[in-house]
Amino acid sequence: MYDVLRSRYTFGCPTRGETSVVLSAFRRLVRLPGASHPAVYRVEFACGCGAEHPALVTHDDLDWAPLGLQDSTPFLNLMTSRVEELASELGDLAARRIKAGEWPWSFFCWPEERPRPVYPSAFKLLAPAVSGDQVGLAVRCPACDRVSINLVSRAHVDVPFVNDRDVGVVEHLFSHDLSATLEQFQAELWSEIFDIRRLNLQ
Ligand SMILES: [Zn+2]
Ligand SMILES: [Zn+2]
Repeated sequence: MYDVLRSRYTFGCPTRGETSVVLSAFRRLVRLPGASHPAVYRVEFACGCGAEHPALVTHDDLDWAPLGLQDSTPFLNLMTSRVEELASELGDLAARRIKAGEWPWSFFCWPEERPRPVYPSAFKLLAPAVSGDQVGLAVRCPACDRVSINLVSRAHVDVPFVNDRDVGVVEHLFSHDLSATLEQFQAELWSEIFDIRRLNLQ
């Protein structure tokens, strides 16, 4: 379902049959009750056909597949001209970077007033910003469990280990009720009340 070489998820589309999207095309993620091995998320994504569709994604596909920690697609290593397991290559690299203090994803937790590392399964809502290449991102903090909204680049979401140096932060404490949050989220995004914070985890 996740293509690690193209950083895209493949889902079904009622008009196109099949489509592939990047993580920043996700609009809403909800963890389904019950399933826990693996946990399953219901997502809604913005499809290339213009509509939004639902899809199911496992926790592994959300958090680990983009790091190459699950995919075992063979690939040709141009340095050695050998077909090797992509998983071990990328997975090793990701593990080394995480050990060195780099984080694949991060966000600025407004209630705690500090940057935090995070995984995509903590993303709750995403919305493209009014202009440019940015996306509004509602994250439930894995440390304090409160919701923050950041304005980040698409690459910050789509490409592991690409973290914006500065992010926009909405100075507002959001409720845990996601539908209420969604309304506030869109209102805040369109009004562009963002404060800039440095996202330096080191
Ligand atoms: Zn579609
Ligand atoms: Zn927090």
